[in-house]
Amino acid sequence: MNASQRWTLAILEMDDYTCQFCGNVNHLDAAHIEPKSRRPDLALDPANGITLCRSCHSYFHANPYAFELFIYSFRQHNTSYFTRAPVAEPVS
Ligand SMILES: [Zn+2]
Repeated sequence: MNASQRWTLAILEMDDYTCQFCGNVNHLDAAHIEPKSRRPDLALDPANGITLCRSCHSYFHANPYAFELFIYSFRQHNTSYFTRAPVAEPVS
């Protein structure tokens, strides 16, 4: 597993394999909150990821303003979410 795959797995595990927007438990992605293009330094930061299903993920990619509103609201209601512990290195 490479670093990017470990990041994805860590996000899904922290979010209980559930889309944080619609509650779907199928076809899940780990989405970057700050896009890699804008913040490559946060690409592997577990606090910069959120679980979305494929359909919410593509909806938000097409509607970045809706995504910003969702993240803003999510942060208001989940104050501990973005201070969670860093990803432990897996034992290989
Ligand atoms: Zn969803």
